Amino acid sequence: MFEFNVIAQSSDSGARSGVIQTRHGTIETPVFMPVGTLGTVKSLSPEELVEAGAQIILGNTYHLYLRPGCDVIDRFDGLHRFIHWDRPILTDSGGFQVFSLAKLAKISREGVSFQSHIDGSRHLLTPEKAIEIQTCLGSDIIMCLDQCIQYPATKAQCREALETTTQWAQRCKQAWQETGNGSNTLFGIVQGGMFGDLRRRSADSLMDIDFKGYAVGGLSVGEPAQMMLEMADVTLPVLPEDKPRYIMGVGTPENLVELVARGADMFDCVLPTRNARNGQMFTQSGTINISNAQYRDDDGPIETGCRCYTCRNFSRAYLRHLYMARELLAYRLNTIHNVYFFIDFVKRMRRAIRSDGFESFRRDFYRRLDN
Ligand SMILES: [Zn+2]
Repeated sequence: MFEFNVIAQSSDSGARSGVIQTRHGTIETPVFMPVGTLGTVKSLSPEELVEAGAQIILGNTYHLYLRPGCDVIDRFDGLHRFIHWDRPILTDSGGFQVFSLAKLAKISREGVSFQSHIDGSRHLLTPEKAIEIQTCLGSDIIMCLDQCIQYPATKAQCREALETTTQWAQRCKQAWQETGNGSNTLFGIVQGGMFGDLRRRSADSLMDIDFKGYAVGGLSVGEPAQMMLEMADVTLPVLPEDKPRYIMGVGTPENLVELVARGADMFDCVLPTRNARNGQMFTQSGTINISNAQYRDDDGPIETGCRCYTCRNFSRAYLRHLYMARELLAYRLNTIHNVYFFIDFVKRMRRAIRSDGFESFRRDFYRRLDN
């Protein structure tokens, strides 16, 4: 079960807002999806995620397949019951981690063979296998296996990876149609490196195969921010208006504003969670590092006016103390604020689009950052 409807379109930018319906409930877009790599958004309980306003979380197929393994999750009829989360889940195909984490990833026509980064065991991930694993995980939105490449890469390398990605997308669609139980939906992933013509070609090929949603992969891999936006500029407008557009693994609040302005609907990124554990906190006027000596006796919250549990109850001085002492609570409280910040930030963009005030939101955002 899957449906997407655009309900508001900004009159002076490409920004839009919509509603996605899945078996596990609705998702209002634009949406930020916290990353729950191993079946947990690091340090947060599901209740804390709900309190932060999370509508959907992301799980990583590569990690969950290797540990604890599909046989374990299958005993629970999928991830939802296993991790005690009853809202929608999106899983990636595992491709990105195979190419970035696993050892000796080797591409063939069949798929990609690799060695586990945990115990060195050998595996073969094929498009069919990626669908099988994600179906077993019980995710609501599943992704095609794609070939990710490093940045920078030559045009020939990008073209080859994009052709593999297209062939794999065809096989994923077929496997999904043959084995799917109708409980999830499948998105295609646009590749093409930093070449506009390849990006367009990739999008066209995927649209011929026809998916319920389209993701843009291979961005935010080390390229300059301007180049990322150029790729979004060539890719997003060619994707169908009546399907959700998901930019994978991006990004900073600035990235999110600019990509929403270009018509993107869905985002995921480890930035709020990973940076929280390094003491970097997001605020509307930029980031602060909680370990900074200037917060030693600061009795104010991380951000005045923030409604998160951390800001409602704790001072910068206490958070700095916890962080300096490497107390476990530091990671939790910092993560609660950062995840709340990202979700709330996107929620405010959503509201602005629905009242056709996105451009003033965007101007206001940059004004606060400059202060
Ligand atoms: Zn807060």
